[in-house]
Amino acid sequence: MEIQVLADLIRSRDRGRCTEPHCDAPIQHLDHLHRWSEGGATTLDNGVGKCTFHNLVRESPTDAVYLYRSCYVGIVIPVRGVEKS
Ligand SMILES: [Zn+2]
Repeated sequence: MEIQVLADLIRSRDRGRCTEPHCDAPIQHLDHLHRWSEGGATTLDNGVGKCTFHNLVRESPTDAVYLYRSCYVGIVIPVRGVEKS
């Protein structure tokens, strides 16, 4: 299947919206559910639409992103290396 046709099908199936729960942002990234680098196929079943934020969270599992994500959902978490005075 031509890649542009596949991209259009994924956007259409996902109704143009990020597929993360409680997120209604427009799709700005298409990604593999099962990572391509780990053998995931470039197919409709393995394709998914994400907003920029959720794709960044998925692709950058660092403390900073987790902190940002926690702020996004309103959870306060302690910051490592900061001691109370
Ligand atoms: Zn999203």
